[in-house]
Amino acid sequence: MPFLVYVEQRDGRIPKPCWQALSEGRRMADARGESLIACIMGNRVSDLADAIFEYGVDDLFLHEHESLARYETEPHAALLSDIQKKTSATIVLMGQTSMTRDLAPRVAERLGAGLVTDCTGMFWDDQGLLYLRPLYAGKVTARLRMHTPIQMVLLRPNIFPMAKKAGAGRVHRVVAEPSPARAKVVDIVWQQRDRPELTDAEIIVSGGRGLGKAEGFQLIEELADLLGAAVGASRAAVDAGWQGQPQQVGQTGKVVTPNLYVACGISGAVQHMAGMSTSRCIMAVNKDPEANIMKVADLSLEGDLYEVLPALMRGIEEKKQQRP
Ligand SMILES: Cc1cc2nc3c(=O)[nH]c(=O)nc-3n(C[C@H](O)[C@H](O)[C@H](O)COP(=O)(O)OP(=O)(O)OC[C@H]3O[C@@H](n4cnc5c(N)ncnc54)[C@H](O)[C@@H]3O)c2cc1C
Repeated sequence: MPFLVYVEQRDGRIPKPCWQALSEGRRMADARGESLIACIMGNRVSDLADAIFEYGVDDLFLHEHESLARYETEPHAALLSDIQKKTSATIVLMGQTSMTRDLAPRVAERLGAGLVTDCTGMFWDDQGLLYLRPLYAGKVTARLRMHTPIQMVLLRPNIFPMAKKAGAGRVHRVVAEPSPARAKVVDIVWQQRDRPELTDAEIIVSGGRGLGKAEGFQLIEELADLLGAAVGASRAAVDAGWQGQPQQVGQTGKVVTPNLYVACGISGAVQHMAGMSTSRCIMAVNKDPEANIMKVADLSLEGDLYEVLPALMRGIEEKKQQRP
């Protein structure tokens, strides 16, 4: 029952959720004495092999072709399905990103596989593999079992730890002409951003309706820059036009799991919590001590954010200056 991990790359960069999927794949395979297979595809991706082997991969299927330079759903789905067939892997893992959310259902359909998305835990019991997945905006955790011979899983980012494991794996070069895509990506327009991507960030500072105005986000951005953090927003702030939709955290926005989530002027509605409740540490700044976020936060700062945040920043700056 070998495990297969699909390693996504864009322009030679492998996103963090993929390293987490490799680590979890190694851990699960070790628990059963199985091998870990990985696959990567793109134009000139050989250079990434060494880094992938640092995660204890036994066999790496590598497909290089100039037509794979850009991600396109159909060719990638066809190639990944072929690699699954070649390797007879029964568990296919992927770190959950916008790309794999597009890819996984297509591959599952081709393989007749079950698919668990947004998985936050997986473990063996006497009946096989059991998967955990939050439902109803995080109010309940479903325990899922797949009964299909091939099981596919998208792992929620930043839940599974990254763990390197030394080993010497083998590279298998896949030589096949990728099937032509019926839908072509004609252009990709990258957003200019100096801050980390929300779903990758170790620290996120988010603002909500409590800011009262769009300009309030300058304060959020200042704190974010001081901490090297990403900027997030509640839906109320996005609906008011103070931030763009890509910044929205929650049920209808992004699901994030940073080490530190700082919620400023956010009440902690269940739909917002659905996107950030698995953060390792939650800090809330709110003038209402009864706000839900103040009850669930690890650290609650009660007061007007326009007084609390400048004081907090002064304190951080002082600490930074004291550092040798
Ligand atoms: C189907 C559906 C999907 C949704 N999806 C999402 C989603 O993805 N993400 C999301 O965020 N919401 C989502 N919502 C909306 C959600 O229900 C809430 O309305 C929203 O999260 C509230 O945003 P908020 O906390 O910024 O505003 P509010 O709930 O109005 O809270 C503002 C907070 O700021 C505090 N405050 C005010 N002034 C200050 C001050 N000067 N200093 C300090 N604190 C202050 C207040 O005490 C209050 O707690 C969804 C709703 C529905 C129905």
